[in-house]
Amino acid sequence: MEQLIGYLKKFLLRDQEVAQQVGYTSDETQFANYKVVIRPSGVFDCLSEPKQVAELLQPDMEYEGLPVLFGSDKSYQHSDTLVIEADMVATAYYLLSRYEEQIIAERDEHGRFTSSLSWLGQCGWLDRPLVDAYGEFLHLRVTGKQPSYCGAQLCLTHDLDRIVKYATARNWLGGIRRMDFAEMLRTVCNQCNDPYWTACRDLASLTGDKPDVRQVFFVYTATHSRCLEDSGCVPLECIDESVLQELKSLPAEIGVHFSYAAGCNKSLLDSELQTAHFLLGRPISSSRYHFLANLKASDLEWQESIGITDEYTAGYADRVGFRLGTCRPVRFMSPLTGRLSNLYLHPLAAMDRTLADSRYMGLGNDEALRQLIELKTQVKHYGGELNVLWHNSMVADSASQLHLLQQLVEAW
Ligand SMILES: [Zn+2]
Repeated sequence: MEQLIGYLKKFLLRDQEVAQQVGYTSDETQFANYKVVIRPSGVFDCLSEPKQVAELLQPDMEYEGLPVLFGSDKSYQHSDTLVIEADMVATAYYLLSRYEEQIIAERDEHGRFTSSLSWLGQCGWLDRPLVDAYGEFLHLRVTGKQPSYCGAQLCLTHDLDRIVKYATARNWLGGIRRMDFAEMLRTVCNQCNDPYWTACRDLASLTGDKPDVRQVFFVYTATHSRCLEDSGCVPLECIDESVLQELKSLPAEIGVHFSYAAGCNKSLLDSELQTAHFLLGRPISSSRYHFLANLKASDLEWQESIGITDEYTAGYADRVGFRLGTCRPVRFMSPLTGRLSNLYLHPLAAMDRTLADSRYMGLGNDEALRQLIELKTQVKHYGGELNVLWHNSMVADSASQLHLLQQLVEAW
């Protein structure tokens, strides 16, 4: 547990020297060693028992304007040490490890935890990274100075559910029904002219030479799924060699887009990863789930065991914001044991469909841009990583989607 608490303190404070001046103890004889002490609320004594942790929750408590879930809102001076009873360390753990999802069993029709179930959603903090705000508050109390964070990055990510529009007989029949003859003719001559692949090229051109903008394309490789949610996808093995070569030459990272079916099956995860590895001829270590369908602790442990080091699913499909309470990549912590893994979770802040789809936020482009700029302001302030997800198919089907993303890149 000592290693876990050490990691959480370092994650909050960032600077080892500053972190060492924050104690996490109830032992009064130790207080003089620290400038700030947070008194543990008991959460780490009962991690394996979600019911006991649930009994400690204080969902309406605030300390110095920050919602805190455990402990009390009291603080006092002990000689030169500020002692705080609001347990920010345990609350940070509750959010970062998704302990909350161990306590609340309710899910949507795709098995997803939704923003309205989350404490951050309920207390109006979903679009501000609360854990990072704790770090800022503690830094100010320890040093007397407002921290200045740098190194913010914009990360454009793209799930290639359908890397090309026309690959299978079903795709071509759909084109005939829609009478899309011109684009079908262009594609049949050369698949590099396929509208969904052309959209990938358009997306790849967005980053320019900006050093603080990077890009990840997630390729879908499953060929075995019987899930309805996977049925419209085009596996990577269906594309022509010419498109595959262009994909390999994109100046972007490539990850694997795990199928809807793979979330329930470790061997499928492994085979989809190996297929990506084989077809692209390079090791793949980043991933995201189709439909953002899975963020189960057991599944993240499986992903780690097969060699995934960076996971990008941690966002909500129904609302933009910071599901993990942070805008920075964080090591996955197994919620019930506190085991610190080597898998990094990259918070996903916004998705094209979340903003545009009437089932979710249903915003016009002006309001969508305003939401993105607000997220950008938060991420820049905390020196984090703004991960956004834009689908190549959305960009091909609606020119305004590319324009919206372009506006975000320009504003960055
Ligand atoms: Zn997908």
